[in-house]
Amino acid sequence: SPRRNPAIPLPRDIFGSARRNSVGVDLSDPLVRDPLLERLGALESRTWSQGNHPVASPQNRGAVVGSIQEATGDAVDRMVRAAHAAQPEWDSLGGEARARLLDRTADLFEEHREQFFSLCIREGGKTLPDAVLEVREAVDFLRFYASEARSKFTRALPLPGPTGEQNELRMHGRGAFVCISPWNFPLAIFTGPVAAALAAGNSVIAKPAEQTPLIGDLAIKLMHEAGVPQDVVQLAFGDGSVGAALTAHPLIAGVAFTGSTEVSRLINRSLAERDGPIVPFIAETGGQNAMIVDSSALPEQVTRDVVSSAFQSAGQRCSALRVLFVQEDVADTIIDMIAGAMKALTIGDPADLRTDVGPVIDEEAKQALEEHLDWLDANAKRLCRLELPQATADACFVAPAMYEISSLKQLNRENFGPILHVVRFKADALAQVIDDINATGYGLTLGLQSRIDTTRDFVEQRARVGNFYVNRNQIGAVVESQPFGGEGLSGTGPKAGGPHYVARFATERVTCIDT
Ligand code: GLU
Repeated sequence: SPRRNPAIPLPRDIFGSARRNSVGVDLSDPLVRDPLLERLGALESRTWSQGNHPVASPQNRGAVVGSIQEATGDAVDRMVRAAHAAQPEWDSLGGEARARLLDRTADLFEEHREQFFSLCIREGGKTLPDAVLEVREAVDFLRFYASEARSKFTRALPLPGPTGEQNELRMHGRGAFVCISPWNFPLAIFTGPVAAALAAGNSVIAKPAEQTPLIGDLAIKLMHEAGVPQDVVQLAFGDGSVGAALTAHPLIAGVAFTGSTEVSRLINRSLAERDGPIVPFIAETGGQNAMIVDSSALPEQVTRDVVSSAFQSAGQRCSALRVLFVQEDVADTIIDMIAGAMKALTIGDPADLRTDVGPVIDEEAKQALEEHLDWLDANAKRLCRLELPQATADACFVAPAMYEISSLKQLNRENFGPILHVVRFKADALAQVIDDINATGYGLTLGLQSRIDTTRDFVEQRARVGNFYVNRNQIGAVVESQPFGGEGLSGTGPKAGGPHYVARFATERVTCIDT
């Protein structure tokens, strides 16, 4: 179709973008990898931060990675008041000055990336390749939102008007924004909304996930080191009661939340019931993500993309593949190949480079997944379930598994881990498959493996999802290239890393001068 004609360049391509995404670390080069592993080994004994709340590792629940100070109700109130008071000056700095501080923060994140790698592995249970991606994404968010601050927040936008009138639109911060982030991207998704809110001229109270506060704490310290004032960005650590105190506070000017659909409903209610201004709520929540494979797909490519979409990061991505729809003519072949590839996966210590699948985040997550596996054993056909490694008593491992179910309707919620469900469909039932996916109410990612252009266009037109991936895996959205976020039960938008994201944290003011 003409939309995909690469001969029609985007304006950005014509003028050349000044901004490039970060480069990462080449872990295949032993000269880079081996000294890095040695330095990470040395960091392992370090205990991070200081406070009254110990933080455990998903790999070894008995070991303490560090500790952090919990915020009390009074402290939350003081933080919001300080952030509210500090915001006008931050806003009046303008987009260019704020962008410089965000760029400086990105540099500091890169300088401290090995500390982040170590924390991502120990506190977040991430493998090293995932930790590298995590730091890259955080850095890319900082630099991209800095460029947005420069382009949209440095000067007024002149608007046409009747003769004799001069109209101008200016973007401003709204006040003190609350950013509540998840444990599955403890740096990238912690940093993204904070950076966007700051870029737009807001002050921020950032509440990291209970499981991964040390990474957030280091990120905020580096923002301060870069020159963002203490009251302009603050960390509020605590359980749900801290989140509830923040979202009920009358002085907050908006909430950006990434996490479960259930918690997003609670926040929405709290915002509706509180006194004070009506404020924006930006929520990025769960998914019931599918991939559709028809008989024209390339089986090797399908296998590779399914395994990475379903099991990378132990399936703990909102984007991860949960339900694979395979056309029945090719189903047996594809299932056999996926099961074969699964058997080659190594489950184990995330600090070990041979590990493909690390632990899930905590005991609660493990139990919920095990309950679902029990349910599947009673109600579905087991196609493959890996063995857990020996001596894993202290680690929260869940072995990757694949089960065949008769219909998507059998699943009534997102299962956030390395469990893949398979449904067979008949060649003439594609429309019904998409309608069933839409009927879940979620709309985050969808994969399609097909060599037929009309099938691709048909699915694209009918599916209500935020991110549609064709003939590739469906995780790992890249900042600015693949803005990420869903619709319906999956979130409110705007898309993280996209051209409309920062603007949603801002308010617009128009001046009209009659000359
Ligand atoms: N942006 C991530 C990806 O594309 C997923 C984010 C999430 O899990 O919330 O894989």
